Amino acid sequence: MLTAFATYTVPGKVNSPHCRRTRSFVAPTYEKLSISAADQQALLFSSAQGHQQQDLEQDILAWESLLAPEETAARDAVRAWVDARFAPRITEAHRRGAFPRDLIPELAELGVFGASLQGYGCAGMSSVAYGLVMQELERGDSALRSLCSVQGSLVMHAIHAFGSPEQRERWLPALAQGKLIGCFALTESSAGSDPAAMAATARRDGDAYMLEGEKAWITNAPIADLAVVFAKVADEDGRVRAFVVERGPGLEVHSVEGKLSLRASPTGNILLAAARGALLPGSGGLKSALQCLTQAREGIAWGVTGAAMDCFEAALDYGAHRQVFGRPLASRQLFQERLATMAQSIVTSQLMSLHFGRLKDQGRLTPVQVSLHKRHNVAAARRVASDARAMLGANGIIDTNKVMRHLMNLESVYTYEGTDDVHALAVGRALTGISAFS
Ligand SMILES: Cc1cc2nc3c(=O)[nH]c(=O)nc-3n(C[C@H](O)[C@H](O)[C@H](O)COP(=O)(O)OP(=O)(O)OC[C@H]3O[C@@H](n4cnc5c(N)ncnc54)[C@H](O)[C@@H]3O)c2cc1C
Repeated sequence: MLTAFATYTVPGKVNSPHCRRTRSFVAPTYEKLSISAADQQALLFSSAQGHQQQDLEQDILAWESLLAPEETAARDAVRAWVDARFAPRITEAHRRGAFPRDLIPELAELGVFGASLQGYGCAGMSSVAYGLVMQELERGDSALRSLCSVQGSLVMHAIHAFGSPEQRERWLPALAQGKLIGCFALTESSAGSDPAAMAATARRDGDAYMLEGEKAWITNAPIADLAVVFAKVADEDGRVRAFVVERGPGLEVHSVEGKLSLRASPTGNILLAAARGALLPGSGGLKSALQCLTQAREGIAWGVTGAAMDCFEAALDYGAHRQVFGRPLASRQLFQERLATMAQSIVTSQLMSLHFGRLKDQGRLTPVQVSLHKRHNVAAARRVASDARAMLGANGIIDTNKVMRHLMNLESVYTYEGTDDVHALAVGRALTGISAFS
């Protein structure tokens, strides 16, 4: 499967060190801002004087020198696919509020579902390679990364870690191939940051369990074939355990309507009424859910930097083309200061990701480090997207110019998988030894 990562390339584009810089930032709304012949001359002149842009990853961070060839190969293959296949579709998908599901087999072919898992047709890649894959998916849109994070880090990870050998054989290959889509149902309408307050129950019924309750805000639920559901087991003093519930009698999904964020990601509320579930026997306690979330949060922390990079590049391109008071916007000190601050945030996030990714590969990453990582990188990406939105002026609110879409998406990412506050409390508890949660 891993070889799939090395084969999806767009010749002459993806592997060029300056591929993103040469991608022209053309949007319909820019036509009315067309640059005069004199201004074009001025721009050409400034380039000829040696005022060449520097590439953030290539020149400033010397990023490539920090990565192994298989890590850059995975990243470049996904970047090429996103550019060629997903980017042309996302504005429309976002407007419609629906994920382009016909792309799911291509994502499976690319090997992104459960890419960090071993066996069952999964790519088995390193944490750093997986993180770079998440970065490239989220450069396309947080909805794309969310689909893949939920499928791999939450659903497949739960089955891989807690399922019996028969359960793994039954579901993991089909999930890796995108023939089945899964969702991960932990949150309830009255139990978000505090999942221990969940009310869903499971009662033993022969070989299976019957589940009752509701789950809220569940990514992928409207398109899912199965759900990993967390519920309190009546016969075990209310201990939380994980169950696989396949779509069928007793499981109803209602799409969440009116979302202004992650519009291309299907989100649903689930009703369970005597729904038949298969216990994942290795699961036990809320820590099983948190173990899956730790995997997913690490991918999120990498992923959001992709959205930030896309926003940064949009601002950089806009500054080169937009004239204000007779000169390119990019020649202005205030604009450059903002770019420098954005670049600093992105570089800091990337270095943190690389450090924690390497620790994870050595089996040394702790949950509190994941909290720090998720909290830092999401907040940084949110600021970068907000600055980029402002730097594009009125054009910044048009969906074809993507920065506002990223900004709106990042509002959800700031909240899901542990809010910014909750991760602050986790880090604060580790620093002080005192829990401020309750
Ligand atoms: C688009 C989207 C997709 C999602 N996908 C999934 C999914 O696939 N599966 C799933 O199970 N869940 C999912 N969620 C749910 C998400 O994980 C929860 O929204 C999140 O955990 C926060 O819970 P809540 O919304 O109930 O907020 P609350 O827990 O009600 O928090 C409200 C506010 O209070 C703050 N707060 C909470 N506790 C404290 C405290 N002790 N001290 C101070 N402040 C506090 C929070 O930071 C927040 O600002 C998704 C959410 C969204 C928006």
